[in-house]
Amino acid sequence: MIKFTLRCEAEHEFEGWFRDNAAFEEQAGKGVLSCPVCGDGRVTKSIMAPAVRTSENAAAAQAEKNARMAAVMKQLRAAHEHVEKNFENVGERFAEEARAIHYGDKEQRDIFGQTTLQEAKELHDEGVSFGFLPPLPKADA
Ligand SMILES: [Zn+2]
Repeated sequence: MIKFTLRCEAEHEFEGWFRDNAAFEEQAGKGVLSCPVCGDGRVTKSIMAPAVRTSENAAAAQAEKNARMAAVMKQLRAAHEHVEKNFENVGERFAEEARAIHYGDKEQRDIFGQTTLQEAKELHDEGVSFGFLPPLPKADA
């Protein structure tokens, strides 16, 4: 089946499904096609038929976006699991602990916790290496 956007002489546009282009030509030739708005039988294929393709593209783009998001979420969840299992949670003392480890005041170990953007910037400026782990969305099914 193929969908055509059709147009009558009064420029009403409507859609019709046909087995193939020949089926359309045949029905149009017999004059059995008519405009659902005004009943005009002089129906032609609209050359402006981007609506179909656009919606298909949009759907494909959305599906691709969803798939990408799902992949990102999977990675993020895995990263969270890895960190929570293997790193020590120092909570809001993160900046303090990271600095202490960096300057050798505390034993070298993997930690995670929360920090403010300002603290993160200061740590970065001091050459403390750390990574950002975006939070998981709360409504995560
Ligand atoms: Zn019409």
